[in-house]
Amino acid sequence: MEELNNQIYGCKKCRLWQGAKHGVPGEGPLNAKVMFVGQNPGADEDESGRPFVGRAGKYLTKTLVEFGIKREEVFITNIVKHVSPKNRKPYDDEVRACLPYLVTQINMIKPEIIVLLGASAKETPRIEGIEYIQIIHPSAAMRFTKMREKFRQQIADLAKRLK
Ligand code: SF4
Repeated sequence: MEELNNQIYGCKKCRLWQGAKHGVPGEGPLNAKVMFVGQNPGADEDESGRPFVGRAGKYLTKTLVEFGIKREEVFITNIVKHVSPKNRKPYDDEVRACLPYLVTQINMIKPEIIVLLGASAKETPRIEGIEYIQIIHPSAAMRFTKMREKFRQQIADLAKRLK
């Protein structure tokens, strides 16, 4: 994993590295049962080099803990590993260039469940034997009451399955 992370830090396979301070490979244990995948790192992630550490990430972590899932138990990453200008949606060619890193991470970790954070994570490659669950993105859950209720229920359901 360290070698893969170093490849990501030095990657220039698409244009996104140019505006980024840090590559954000993702983090979590190699034996994680669950992998969370978002779309792309934001400004806080770019600053720190860590995934989901901004407001939405903190909210996700807090909700996981509330339902008995420790953040250190899960692997968290994104489809593309560098921040995009003004946090725009990554272009198709950027996603295509970056996806091999995610495929390698999935093959290394072999999670039982991959949780797609919002519709924007839909490009995550489907690999046989893994269950895919799409949930509300934590940033939407923070903003809208109905989505928050559904998001919390989705995390509660996930927690039950992990017991
Ligand atoms: S976003 Fe992915 S493909 Fe593009 S430069 Fe970064 S690591 Fe490489």
